[in-house]
Amino acid sequence: MERKPGCWSGRVLCAGHWNQIWQLNLPPKVRVFAWRWIHNILPTGGNLVDRTRRGCEECPFCGLKETQYHTFLNCGWTRRIWKPSELRGLFSRGEERTCEEWCCEVQESEKSEAIEALLVVLWYIWHERNNHLWNGKKREERDIIPHALEWLSEFQSKQRQSTYLANQRSLRWNPPNPDRLKANVDAAIFRSGGTGWGVIVRDHNGGFRLAAVKRTRRKWAPEIAEAMGIMFALDLAKRYDFTALDVETDCLLLVQKLLREMRSALEVEEVCEEIRDEADRVGDIRILFTGRECNEPAHMLAHTFCPWDSEEIWVSDPPYFLAHHLCKDNNLGSPI
Ligand SMILES: [Zn+2]
Repeated sequence: MERKPGCWSGRVLCAGHWNQIWQLNLPPKVRVFAWRWIHNILPTGGNLVDRTRRGCEECPFCGLKETQYHTFLNCGWTRRIWKPSELRGLFSRGEERTCEEWCCEVQESEKSEAIEALLVVLWYIWHERNNHLWNGKKREERDIIPHALEWLSEFQSKQRQSTYLANQRSLRWNPPNPDRLKANVDAAIFRSGGTGWGVIVRDHNGGFRLAAVKRTRRKWAPEIAEAMGIMFALDLAKRYDFTALDVETDCLLLVQKLLREMRSALEVEEVCEEIRDEADRVGDIRILFTGRECNEPAHMLAHTFCPWDSEEIWVSDPPYFLAHHLCKDNNLGSPI
């Protein structure tokens, strides 16, 4: 890659470099870490003492002054991590350069896969350092790079999977696997004010398990409203003990953000984080995207009347107005 004019003026990364970093196929927390690392503002002991005149500047592994350079390159502990890896050469070019200068250089000479691997390893080193400092835990040095790379490849393969799922748009509702249930979710934002949600849960035969509606007077941005619909489904899953559940929404952007395929605004990211945590607590939950045409019963439920700030749940028989849609989804034609 040609060095762009201006990139080295003042030896800082230009917008093009930053764009490249933001576009790397990395978990958002690693990108944020990279940004802090490049700016040399990670709270290492040395950085903290230099900035606040407080705390302890000693490296938790060897007692020398803990600068970023020390933590990621020079500490005996770090050297043992890098030693067996072929990434070492790439990283040791960072000697006598600032992180920013080093990053400029590597970005101009290496493919994004190599930069992704390197940043993930740096993030992992930081993670291990914190785990040692705060929890007293220590992993074998030689295992750290393989673990980091495995974690990265898992993240990247999950992403490919979900893109694949999103691309497989079918025009009909697809039942879940026999050992799972599927909840379709939708949100409705009413022009007169307020938000409604609908959830319908079915099994692999299309058999009805539960339908629920909920309404509040509050109004949210569409994506947040959809996210709260997913939270409603997770809440029902907890109450009715649905531990292996596919949750389907027709909001593709939200699914991509939940799967960390896309960066989200802080407000959305907070709700996403809540959903991820809650999904972990409830059990084996998968969040999937489906086309609007496959989500009609949930759409109808979301628009169904229900008193403000309350919910209504059907468990043995579906509400009458859904019968037609359920038959259609099961390919049985209309009951009438
Ligand atoms: Zn050290």
